[in-house]
Amino acid sequence: MPAPETAEAKRIACAEIVPDCPFTASAATEEELLQKVVAHAARDHGITEVTPELAARVKAAIKSRSMR
Ligand SMILES: [Zn+2]
Repeated sequence: MPAPETAEAKRIACAEIVPDCPFTASAATEEELLQKVVAHAARDHGITEVTPELAARVKAAIKSRSMR
């Protein structure tokens, strides 16, 4: 279990990639967040293949929460 202060340090809004999509996710690590986004994309957008271009767009949309 991640410690509360390190949980959900990364956030993403799907709307950054798919306009008008209300989905947002947060996770402790970029890798974990990516997995959530991929699962959402497959379920709600029918995206079954994450191309390098899509992965780059997702990574660009990830926001790191300040931990200071
Ligand atoms: Zn979406």
